[in-house]
Amino acid sequence: MKIGVIGGGAAGFFFAINAKEMYPDAEIAIYEKANKVLSKVKISGGGRCNVTNSFEDVTDLKFIYPRGERVMKRLFNTFDNADAYRWFEKHGVKLTTQEDHCVFPQSQDSGSIIRCFLSQAKKFGIHVFTNCKVTEIKKEENEKFVLHIEKYKSTQKEGSARTIEKMEEKMDFVVVTTGGSPRYEGLQWLESLGHKISMPVPSLFTFNICSKELRELMGTVSENAIVSIPATKFRSQGALLITHWGMSGPAILKLSSYAARHLADNSYCSPLLVNWSGVSDMDTVTEYIRNIATENVHKQLSSIRPYNIPSRLWNYIVCKSDIQTDKRWGELGKKGINRIVNNLMNDSYKIEGKSAFREEFVTCGGISTESVNINTLESKHCPGLYFAGEILDIDAVTGGFNFQTAWTTAFVVAKQLTSK
Ligand SMILES: Cc1cc2nc3c(=O)[nH]c(=O)nc-3n(C[C@H](O)[C@H](O)[C@H](O)COP(=O)(O)OP(=O)(O)OC[C@H]3O[C@@H](n4cnc5c(N)ncnc54)[C@H](O)[C@@H]3O)c2cc1C
Repeated sequence: MKIGVIGGGAAGFFFAINAKEMYPDAEIAIYEKANKVLSKVKISGGGRCNVTNSFEDVTDLKFIYPRGERVMKRLFNTFDNADAYRWFEKHGVKLTTQEDHCVFPQSQDSGSIIRCFLSQAKKFGIHVFTNCKVTEIKKEENEKFVLHIEKYKSTQKEGSARTIEKMEEKMDFVVVTTGGSPRYEGLQWLESLGHKISMPVPSLFTFNICSKELRELMGTVSENAIVSIPATKFRSQGALLITHWGMSGPAILKLSSYAARHLADNSYCSPLLVNWSGVSDMDTVTEYIRNIATENVHKQLSSIRPYNIPSRLWNYIVCKSDIQTDKRWGELGKKGINRIVNNLMNDSYKIEGKSAFREEFVTCGGISTESVNINTLESKHCPGLYFAGEILDIDAVTGGFNFQTAWTTAFVVAKQLTSK
């Protein structure tokens, strides 16, 4: 059985190694268009590679996988985060789980994962071809696949253009693991085989907000903010970091993921509401502020920070409410309390663009899960062709969940294919 894997990234290698473990007789070739394999794994997690997550904090998969939750839930029955943890440890990569539930190699070095994959690939005789871009897949009458490949060759002379050699390879099965592509054109060759494409747009980015006053708070972290896009269901909660260009931090990244398509449709211009209190019930917050005012009549507003809000941010909220920070709590009155509560809970901004988060992003969109059998990840339009990893319309928030998608989907395809 000859299997062609298109893409030498996380999912491609994980598939190939597992398929060989389950079915040593399979002949597997990985085609990678770049001159190096596993380049995203290398830079992932700031070079440490956040391999997976303990999922201990996950109450509902829909908060983790804004796209693909249903499919992931099903596929986790075959290979979940605990299986991934065991797999890496069994293959010599010791892992550690941080307090925030993110799992990293104990070495704190993504190189451990790469060395593991490369040594396994070598051990199993998996063929790895770099500088080989697959441009087309065709199916012959005898049901074999033909991969059209452009092989790039660098010439000896510095600065001279590289040459391209065109090749064809015949395969019994093909696994597409080409990763995310924020460009629709990058998916057309798969659309032409009948697959439905969910328009790709970026996910996991930070918000650009033009506000001089906000910029002065640069570096301030609000530990528990609720951010939302008015008149939509998009809302998230967590730490928020004020940056020199706008807002970042887990709450913002999560919101960018939930609202990835909505924000793309609106050219990254949108109103944004920030609730700095972290409490969504207005009566509760009003009561809390009223109690502070009654119990601290003679104290200045600046001396007591509700909800542990950093002092610079608290003073900013007070000033935004048209109240002097040296005013006493007892002088606030009903109107003053209402203004503070309003600015604390409904602080309004305008998103005017996006920026990359440590160059980390994933693609929202790709091969629609409607185009695959969700138990096996086999194409509904092209039997014998499978998909794994970020090429599928499955993406997650940060925390190791995107690699978990790669491990889970790749394992499921390996298991399915080797049972043929
Ligand atoms: C900077 C950064 C940091 C990240 N950190 C984390 C993290 O710590 N934890 C986490 O869970 N996720 C992280 N992610 C997301 C994670 O890297 C991806 O979700 C994951 O790599 C997807 O795996 P994949 O195999 O599907 O795709 P990729 O790893 O992108 O691999 C796809 C491969 O296919 C090749 N390819 C594409 N088209 C062709 C073609 N036509 N022919 C041949 N080869 C082709 C590409 O060159 C690439 O090597 C990070 C992403 C970025 C950008």
